[in-house]
Amino acid sequence: MVPASPNVGARASQGRVALTCRNGVRAIEPHASGIHRRQFLALGASLAAAAVAPDAGAEPTPIIYLAPLGDSLAEQDVDFVSRALRAFYAVEVRKLQRSALPASAYYAKRKRYRAERLLAFLSARVPSDAQRILGLTSADISTTKPPHQDWGILGLATLDGKSCVVSSFRCKRLAQSAEHARIRYGKTCVHEIGHTYGLPHCRTTDCLMHDGEGSVLTTDREYDLCSARCRPRLLRAGYPLSDSPDVPWPAPKAAERGR
Ligand SMILES: [Zn+2]
Ligand SMILES: [Zn+2]
Repeated sequence: MVPASPNVGARASQGRVALTCRNGVRAIEPHASGIHRRQFLALGASLAAAAVAPDAGAEPTPIIYLAPLGDSLAEQDVDFVSRALRAFYAVEVRKLQRSALPASAYYAKRKRYRAERLLAFLSARVPSDAQRILGLTSADISTTKPPHQDWGILGLATLDGKSCVVSSFRCKRLAQSAEHARIRYGKTCVHEIGHTYGLPHCRTTDCLMHDGEGSVLTTDREYDLCSARCRPRLLRAGYPLSDSPDVPWPAPKAAERGR
């Protein structure tokens, strides 16, 4: 989730659901199709208010459930996301049984899946002890971002912070290898969960919460949650960080950081 502030780029109504799109969300193809990486779904003002509050009084170790959707996402990718989340957040990560992508979310016209419908699917399946549920898929996902009725994205989160879904589909663009795409995917999942914890985009260029500024390629210069803003902010909000950070990707080269 992101704060329900008006500094986001656009807002659209979908029944009771308000879609919030950041101005600077990561666009995978910024010039041609302008596909945005990160967008956020608000479920209402009351839930938005709840999202600001930390999970005070929660279990000692919060649990993030991973929900693999569809057959094509490699188990290796799911495991890598688990490792990436545990490298940064003091959480337990559990995998739910893989389930088929719901037909109700399929958008036949563009042959991809509507992310807000995937969130609805996930929201109905949140385990009672879950702090978060993260849907993982390799299918292309999209949502509405005015003036675009169907806009390809990397991830979408509910503003109540409970559910999010992230697709690996666009992580493959110009990737040098499957591992490279997997690393981008892991970084994106850490980023999206960071939003559900209340982190906004960060101006530190190698911070995992940095705004993509139009391209998934900028994940390649990201490495850690920054100590200047994001880590202190998480701690202040009551979301502890991992005691033993084992960052599962290499530090970017200086040239990449400045790119
Ligand atoms: Zn973001
Ligand atoms: Zn930061």
